[in-house]
Amino acid sequence: MKLDLQNNLKKYRRPFLIAGPCSVESEDQVMAVAKSISEQHQPALLRGGIWKPRTRPDSFEGVGAIGLPWLVNAGKEVGIPVTTEVANAKHVEAALSAGVDVLWLGARTTVNPFAVQEIADAIQGTEITVMVKNPINPDLMLWVGAFERFQKAGINDLVAIHRGFSVYKHPKYRNVPNWEIPIALMEEMPEIPLICDPSHISGRRDGLLNVAQKAMDLNFAGLMIETHNNPDKAWSDAQQQITPEQLKLLMNQLILRKASIQEEGIDFIELQRKKIAEIDDQLFELMKQRMQIAREVGDYKREKNITILQTEHWKKVIEQRLAKAEELELSIDFLRSVLDAIHQESIRHQTKVMNPGMR
Ligand code: PEP
Ligand code: MN
Repeated sequence: MKLDLQNNLKKYRRPFLIAGPCSVESEDQVMAVAKSISEQHQPALLRGGIWKPRTRPDSFEGVGAIGLPWLVNAGKEVGIPVTTEVANAKHVEAALSAGVDVLWLGARTTVNPFAVQEIADAIQGTEITVMVKNPINPDLMLWVGAFERFQKAGINDLVAIHRGFSVYKHPKYRNVPNWEIPIALMEEMPEIPLICDPSHISGRRDGLLNVAQKAMDLNFAGLMIETHNNPDKAWSDAQQQITPEQLKLLMNQLILRKASIQEEGIDFIELQRKKIAEIDDQLFELMKQRMQIAREVGDYKREKNITILQTEHWKKVIEQRLAKAEELELSIDFLRSVLDAIHQESIRHQTKVMNPGMR
């Protein structure tokens, strides 16, 4: 099926919503959740994972092709087209012959050009809409390359899904959003509508609204939200799935500040300001990491009984950093004051580590 989201966003209304379980678990489960979802908040597409690319081999890896008719029938029952993830040509053939309406590529597939090409070859000649999740690593060109492979195969109804990027143990996100990457994709391929997947970015129910709101504020076209009738008992991604009732609440809480890009045109200043806010967030996150390292150095100095201030070392740091001012197009005065402020804060952290009672 061709969604033609590029031209039909008005028909679907923003946000274009994709809801449904992480995984299709049984015929009854997918039918029941499809019915509950459609009673609460009619989505544009019903999702359900059939083949699940799991990190560990002992996790649930999906029911496989047997679940395709369950998903398709559930969609027919409630009148919502269905979508599932495909990772190779066999999946494509099985999904298409079962009547799946829209296909998506998961993050672990987008990362592999061989797999993307195999899928593009298998889809060639059809009119189907393909949604491509970002690769697991923050590599814009790998994402762009996947779209180009489909375009070369004559598939032009393409949608991007932003699901965040893998990191080791992040305190807030399962997959860090790195919003600058989807924003860069909007610039690189403005014709491709962007959908955000707060479920896989947040990894937890209580983080969904913030991520979804942010995506709406960045003018994303839609949302993909994992929905399950009994999330705690879900066979995959239990912590991040929500009930259809919670989905309705979330959708009602969203503030839609702007009409679609197509209607209003991109407000250049707004976009630049958002990029600036993103970069500031990154700067602060980096500062936080830097202070963590300073505290580790503090631990070491305390153990070895070394003073906090190492004047010779600090002089060298200043010299090396200031030498880059010209290349960075930043004034020496500015760089110097930033370095001094960072140094002061770093000393404060180390002081705390070395003399726990002191401020
Ligand atoms: C999913 O949507 O259930 C999934 C496996 O997503 P991702 O490819 O983003 O990890
Ligand atoms: Mn999932």
